[in-house]
Amino acid sequence: MSHNPAFGTGGGMNKTHRIVVIGAGITGLSAACRLTGLGAERGLPLDVTVLEGRERAGGVISTRQSGGFLAEEGPDSFLKSKPEALSLSIKAGLEPDIIGISGESGRVFIVRNGAMIPLPDGIFPAPTSMAALFNSQLLSMRGKLRMTLEPFLPRGDSRGDESAASFIRRRFGREAYERIGEPLLTGIYAGDPETLSVRAALPALVKMEEEYGSVARGMRRNGAAGGGSKDGGGGGRFATFGRGMGTLINALASGLPGNSLRLKSRVKRIEPAGRGFRIHLNGGNPLECDAVIVALPAPQASLITGGIDLGLSESLSRIKYVSTAVINLGYGRSAVTHTLTGSGFVVPSSEHLPVLACTFSSVKFAGRSPDDAVLLRVISGGAQNPDICSEDDGQLIKLAHGALSPILGIKSEPVYSLVSRNPESMPHYAVGHGALVARIMETASAYPGLRLAGNAYGGVGVPDCVRSGEEAAEDIFSYIARRGTRDEGNKSRRRA
Ligand SMILES: Cc1cc2nc3c(=O)[nH]c(=O)nc-3n(C[C@H](O)[C@H](O)[C@H](O)COP(=O)(O)OP(=O)(O)OC[C@H]3O[C@@H](n4cnc5c(N)ncnc54)[C@H](O)[C@@H]3O)c2cc1C
Repeated sequence: MSHNPAFGTGGGMNKTHRIVVIGAGITGLSAACRLTGLGAERGLPLDVTVLEGRERAGGVISTRQSGGFLAEEGPDSFLKSKPEALSLSIKAGLEPDIIGISGESGRVFIVRNGAMIPLPDGIFPAPTSMAALFNSQLLSMRGKLRMTLEPFLPRGDSRGDESAASFIRRRFGREAYERIGEPLLTGIYAGDPETLSVRAALPALVKMEEEYGSVARGMRRNGAAGGGSKDGGGGGRFATFGRGMGTLINALASGLPGNSLRLKSRVKRIEPAGRGFRIHLNGGNPLECDAVIVALPAPQASLITGGIDLGLSESLSRIKYVSTAVINLGYGRSAVTHTLTGSGFVVPSSEHLPVLACTFSSVKFAGRSPDDAVLLRVISGGAQNPDICSEDDGQLIKLAHGALSPILGIKSEPVYSLVSRNPESMPHYAVGHGALVARIMETASAYPGLRLAGNAYGGVGVPDCVRSGEEAAEDIFSYIARRGTRDEGNKSRRRA
């Protein structure tokens, strides 16, 4: 039971309800903004508090500017086809700041035998253009022919889950997996595709197999890109901001009322307290609230939810995360021999390089480097290199520079560098992820004022996190509104 009279037990529609959001990454900020907006629209007084452990908001989203370089420490853009991040940006008044991929730079390369080979549109996940497939240097003739057999193969067993690696091998052959599927999936998820759930990571492909008996047939019927390549569909699919992804975080944080956002407020434990919750912080008095949204990666959510439900905490701990390091390197333009006509490259594990992917940031987006320089963003770590975050800056710069130099023909040392570590930042949706998430959500639903949101559950991208945060906010708002109406009714009956 709440001890604070402001949000005590007997309140009605006029009482201010306190809702705590834990975590000020994009998920928590989206949830807080949606709650604040709903409260104002529907005339329900809400006191929304966002508790963030670090000294800044944004979580893995962070943009740094120095010496004419604008470097992203986490995501550099978001998909427009999942509309939530774009809509939120527009609502936040950022439409004039939104930029897309520059010119023709949407093309992605795959490294093969130390050289970059373009991944043409129309060959992956399923070959929809025979000309593109047979002209590509990515696969052998045998590998290409095997891909064309896909429409004639029987459907798989639609009841269960399987790994993304097994699905791609089964439908398109071993070569298509090793030379295209594996590097693209590791470039996006940083995890091991051999244990990555195909239902969680590539749901559109599973659906096409189920509905049309073939991914290629499904893609032709839908006229869709299907979802496999990070950038493969051309320049129009991704958006960011002229001054980087941090723009969205700043706009959302500054749009919250006065003292809503409390930085350096790490939550240690949550416990049920009457009809609400008590939140214990690393320092200071506990907070009482009517409802709470836990907008944290699953390992952190697991650590603080044991006081509510040990089973919930244990299930959350089973969603594993991988760590990544992002190394931004700036070079004088003349120091890089390669033309850099694309958005970047991904690297198959068979190349045995210490990097998963590299974005040509200053080619992909305007304003990322001085005119006479280039900015390259290297992602390293993941399942292949779990200890990446313990390497020191010098070592990580050396690793990244050493890996890029022969591929891009780099002739001198970087003139700019920024090393960023993202420990346990990327969820690895293992086979059976859907069933595990269903169990987690069912357990959590026993606590009506509790919602879980974030990249652990239904998608890792920025738009998925926005959607997850906003949906949690809408659920909590309905719960609070229903509770307020019920309390008001009880009060009237008592008075009568
Ligand atoms: C290197 C990298 C590149 C990526 N690239 C892209 C991309 O290009 N496009 C895309 O769409 N997606 C990308 N993603 C995925 C996407 O960025 C993330 O899934 C998303 O930003 C996660 O947001 P979040 O708010 O759920 O979690 P986080 O950003 O992890 O935020 C969680 C917040 O909670 C705080 N916190 C943790 N524990 C506590 C506690 N106990 N008490 C209080 N606060 C706490 C943390 O300090 C943090 O601020 C990328 C991810 C990474 C790591």
